[in-house]
Amino acid sequence: MKAVVVGGGLLGLLSARALSQQGAEVTVVEQGAFGQESSWAGGGILSPLYPWNYSNAVNALAGWGQKFYPELIQQLMLESDVDPEWTQSGMLVLENEPANFVDARGWASARDLNCLEWDPLMLAEREPQIQDEHHGLFFPEIAQVRNPRLLKSVLESCVHHKVKLVANCPVTELVHHDGVIKGVASYDTRFNADVVVVCAGAWSAKVMALLQQDVQINPVRGQMIMYRMPAGQRQLIKRITLMDDHYVIPRRDGRILVGSTLEHTEFDKSTTEQARIQLAEFAEQLYPCLQNAEIERQWAGLRPASPDGIPYICSIPGYQGLFLNAGHFRNGVVLAPASVQLLMDLIYQQPPVLDPEPYRLKRG
Ligand SMILES: Cc1cc2nc3c(=O)[nH]c(=O)nc-3n(C[C@H](O)[C@H](O)[C@H](O)COP(=O)(O)OP(=O)(O)OC[C@H]3O[C@@H](n4cnc5c(N)ncnc54)[C@H](O)[C@@H]3O)c2cc1C
Repeated sequence: MKAVVVGGGLLGLLSARALSQQGAEVTVVEQGAFGQESSWAGGGILSPLYPWNYSNAVNALAGWGQKFYPELIQQLMLESDVDPEWTQSGMLVLENEPANFVDARGWASARDLNCLEWDPLMLAEREPQIQDEHHGLFFPEIAQVRNPRLLKSVLESCVHHKVKLVANCPVTELVHHDGVIKGVASYDTRFNADVVVVCAGAWSAKVMALLQQDVQINPVRGQMIMYRMPAGQRQLIKRITLMDDHYVIPRRDGRILVGSTLEHTEFDKSTTEQARIQLAEFAEQLYPCLQNAEIERQWAGLRPASPDGIPYICSIPGYQGLFLNAGHFRNGVVLAPASVQLLMDLIYQQPPVLDPEPYRLKRG
């Protein structure tokens, strides 16, 4: 089987890798450089931010991915020279009132998840860098990956699996005949295929519009800042910390990411001074030790948002051989492994790893 994947972000590259592992001859066609968009820009937290507020459809993909990530990372480290830095740093959720943890506690106990509740005294003992009084709920098993390293590793793994990678090549046509997909074209260059998978992230609606398909995926800009801690203070913050929908993520080398904004700015990926100030105020109030650290970098990415936050992982009715794996919004990194497995099950008509219904274009 010949397959073309449109888009070389995390979803596209992992889809290509999986297709190749199934024996397909795979080409990924990317409009810019590989792995430089949303997948690069993200925080790499391997959990939805407040999972108890998410649908079962998102949590089912997330739960599968969380279990599979250690194995995926092992495979990637065998197939590449890059360590994606999978790290079980745990996720600490902070609230001013313990009553706000009711839903979270119920959600965790229904799933038998390890979660520890800390009152302000216990929190001060365990996380002395936090100076204000808060109540904490700690999920010790939640892990993170370092996005740029994960992408490099997956890219090398694709090369290992003999995936053909074509950069700077925007797909301008989805080629079909009598309801059967025949490949894609980028201006005059044609790529023939029996199967085409659209993984174009925030641009997926534009790609699907080439066939007059109305797919609701919109870009939502997210800005992040990154601190570089001074020598000797690099391990002061150890846990992913979440409060008021913002978060702090400590990397292994002592760099600290702070995110993120949620902005509807179409395809504008620029950064703003206002976001930099807002994120820095949040982070330095929560962790005053960051006041001594330099903000080394600021960036933005465009999340691919479906209206209900649930990705589309499905075939496209009326076009045999055409599939979509996009719209993962705020959770594409944690949802990627299960999304790709479900996609493979649909393409190869295997028993699906999860019920495919919630991920169809027209959900029931
Ligand atoms: C600030 C921020 C923080 C985030 N934090 C997290 C987190 O902690 N955990 C988590 O799980 N998720 C997080 N996310 C979400 C996650 O990053 C995304 O859901 C995921 O990366 C989407 O991956 P993708 O491959 O679909 O899209 P992208 O990575 O955007 O890749 C799509 C690719 O398609 C290409 N493309 C588009 N149009 C065409 C075309 N016509 N022809 C060829 N190629 C095309 C693009 O150039 C791009 O390379 C975050 C996102 C942001 C922005």
